[in-house]
Amino acid sequence: MARMKGRALVDWFRNNARALPWRNDNRDPYHVVVSEFMLQQTQVDRVVPRFEAFVARFPNIASLAAAEEDEVVEEWSGLGYYRRARMLHRLAEAVVDGGGDLPNTAAGLEELPGIGPYTAAAVASLAWGEAVPVLDGNTMRVGARVLALAHDPRSAEGRRRLEAWILALMENQSPGEVNEALMELGATVCAPVEPECTGCPCSSDCAAKRLGRQQDFPPPRRRRATVSLRWVAACIVRADGRWLVHRVEEGPILRGLWLPPLADAGEDRDSVEVAGRLVPHAVGLPVVGPAVRHHITHRKIDVFPVRFDVDRFDPPSDAWIWVDPRDPGVPTSSLFEKLVAAVSR
Ligand code: SF4
Repeated sequence: MARMKGRALVDWFRNNARALPWRNDNRDPYHVVVSEFMLQQTQVDRVVPRFEAFVARFPNIASLAAAEEDEVVEEWSGLGYYRRARMLHRLAEAVVDGGGDLPNTAAGLEELPGIGPYTAAAVASLAWGEAVPVLDGNTMRVGARVLALAHDPRSAEGRRRLEAWILALMENQSPGEVNEALMELGATVCAPVEPECTGCPCSSDCAAKRLGRQQDFPPPRRRRATVSLRWVAACIVRADGRWLVHRVEEGPILRGLWLPPLADAGEDRDSVEVAGRLVPHAVGLPVVGPAVRHHITHRKIDVFPVRFDVDRFDPPSDAWIWVDPRDPGVPTSSLFEKLVAAVSR
């Protein structure tokens, strides 16, 4: 029974899978790793162009390991969550130090930096055909609905039941295809809202559909509360249009990226004064631009840019550099672009 259902699922996948660049290469394990890192927390349509550029610049694990961390982070621009880029770089270094080959089991992959159970299962099944179920938001939603799962899919019991269901689907099928088919089904058909049950290969077997209660599974998760922040950015701009930036060295967010100096303004409403404290020797008439909104995970940040046009300004140290905002040549955040747009004339 499960064999036939696994077969129907895989047939559906073969006929309906989206053409994605990491699916066209005979499952090169390195490409699978890069795509899985990128797809964590980033939508597929944003990943596709960045993936192609990334593997063009770093075509294999050795070239990635040989690169500077800043180069890797720079090539990650636009994807956000830059910690993933640093972890991927560390992973490549660890693989090269260990002889150059990626481990071919989920257990071996989990030993590497940046690889948790989800990524290990995805890579081991897609690249090596190991029968390990992938549990991500998409596969959990499909499974929770098919089984009308009463447990939270992230609980130990919920995971155990979902894994048993996926393993049964894998019987006599390619494990990678089963995992990928479930991921694809969740991403394209079994949507969180209004799943398209008529075209679903699991519809005859889906308890939630039978009950007419698709929306009740899985139960909603409690969201992390949004934190609102107010920052000030000191935008020091030279007559030739170059901006002064420095590398963010500390803090839980934006670390390793090059940006104009930023300060948490808290309750202080005087943006010019806060900006003046950031760059005490900046001269020129400060101009306050419109606030820009920036989101990082659960943080909603309003950044108030204050522009100083300077004839000359001696940076406080060598760790500060002047860059062309259209082509900074260093890893940065989309926040930089927003600031430039806000105070450009
Ligand atoms: S039948 Fe509907 S609810 Fe059930 S798995 Fe398919 S798309 Fe999801």
